[in-house]
Formats: sequence, C-alpha cells, structure tokens
Amino acid sequence: MAGVRECSLAVREGAMSVLDLTGVSLVGADFDMTVADSFTPPPGGVGVPQACEHALEALFGEHGKPLLEKIGGFVNQSPGELMQAIFTMGMKLPLAAMARNYFEREADYLRECVPIGKGHPLVWEENNQFNIVLELFVRAKLRPLVAQISKTWPVPSPGFFEFVQSLRGFGIPFGIITAGHDVFIQNFFAVHEVEVPVLLTGDDIRGSKHDGIEKPDAKLFELFLEKFGWMQPIAASSILYLGDDINRDGGLAHNTGVRFGLYSPFTVYSERNWSPRTFQFGHFSDLTHALRAGQMQAAE
Ligand SMILES: [Mg+2]
Repeated sequence: MAGVRECSLAVREGAMSVLDLTGVSLVGADFDMTVADSFTPPPGGVGVPQACEHALEALFGEHGKPLLEKIGGFVNQSPGELMQAIFTMGMKLPLAAMARNYFEREADYLRECVPIGKGHPLVWEENNQFNIVLELFVRAKLRPLVAQISKTWPVPSPGFFEFVQSLRGFGIPFGIITAGHDVFIQNFFAVHEVEVPVLLTGDDIRGSKHDGIEKPDAKLFELFLEKFGWMQPIAASSILYLGDDINRDGGLAHNTGVRFGLYSPFTVYSERNWSPRTFQFGHFSDLTHALRAGQMQAAE
C-alpha cells in the first residue's frame, strides 16, 4: 500500500503522473456527478433537482413547491431523506391522500418504470403510507428524466467511457453503486452503446430487507460485491471506488476499507486528514493512464 500513500500525497500536490493503480482488480463508481452530470438540466429541459420539484407537484399539487422550499430545496438528499423532511414539514396536510389520487391517475406508468420486484410494492396500505408515497415520488421523479436521455444528456464525465473501455480491456470488472435507478442508468449506457455495468441502485434497496441503508453504510458494498456473483472474497486493497462526494462516497470506501478516488474536476482539495487510500482526480483520462501503467507494471 506504500505506493497508494505516496500517490495520494503527490496527487494533492498536482503530480498526477504518479497516480498508482497497481493491483486494482475491481472498480466501483457512484453515478450522479461522477459518471455523468445529471444535475445540469438539458437545454430547455429538467435536471434531477427540477424533476424532484415536478414530482412533488405531481404528488401534492400546489403544496409541492412550497414544501420543497420550506425544507431548503433539493440538496442532494436521498429520496427517503427528502420525503421524510416533506412529511415532517407537511404533517398537517393530507399528503398521503393527495399522493393516492396521483397514483390512481397514473397507475399504468407508475407500475412499469421500476423493474418488477424492486422498490416498494404499489399496493396501498393504510399503515404503510410513507413507503408507498416515497415509492410514488421516486417513480414520478424518474419520468421526465428517463424521457430526456440522449447522447447529449446527461453529459458523461470526460474520458469516462474510455476508462470503462480500458477496464474491459484489462478484464477488470466494473459496477455502479448509486441511490439512482436501474432504468435511468440502463438507458444512459444504451444510448452510448456501452454494455450496462453491474448495478446496485436505490431500486435494489428500497423495499428490500436492507431498506433505508445509504452511503456510507458498508453494507452497500457487501451487496454490491454480491452482484458480481463471486464465490471468493476479494481483498479490499485491490478494489477502487470512485465518487464525487467525500462524505458519502469517500465514507463508503473508508468504511469498506477500499481505495477511494474523489472525482473533483473543478476543485483541488488540500485536506491532509484523508485516509492514505484516498486520492483525487480531475479527469478520467488520469485514471486510464494510471490503470495502463499499473497493469504494465504488474505484467513485468
Ligand atoms: Mg454523486
């Protein structure tokens, strides 16, 4: 691990060429703002924050927007956190009844936009209203986003697909851990004609026995590795995880004991209290070069 320690310090000082990915045998990544910029809306369209707003309006009518404003707007919360705040703020409103109206109007679409067996079942139960409203919110939010996916939106992070291609070339498995959704990510890869990676999404977690777990809970990584269907354990030191959020993504890597690459295209951080397994990178081509160098070194 000495190489990783050296590289992480060096990278912070701007010497990207010494980024050391020797021994990496599995790579995971966050999706939003790491793989692609889904927060910047397409021209004339809606991004994730706007889709949240639209979904709240669909569910709660004229109360949707004021409720979102009262909780401080959309700030990269998980849907569960957002809906919890909405329910707390709107406790005097018949939120569940309003959402049920929406459900009855749009049942056909709402049943189809999440893979069967994932998410909370869309069966109205009086004693489980929060979960079904949350599920409706998630599905309503997806609708405009999925409809907009094209080659030009969401914008992939520069160099990302080349990085994925080089991972494939070296036979290094790749997957995504996200609070996002299967259908969105599958469509994103499909429009770019790239094979869909292994996915652990919010759709897998919602309504499952692990309902409510979020980054940085290490259980997510366990579930992620299970998705690869491997029988043999893989050393944490040979796993690299990439993300744009030092707390959620970096925390997940830290709690799992894997290496962490913070994707930070616009800011160079100077934190000195990061784990020695952490480095930052501003462009995926830096990872691609480091991966090639690491693989060549390993082959020597
Ligand atoms: Mg992210």
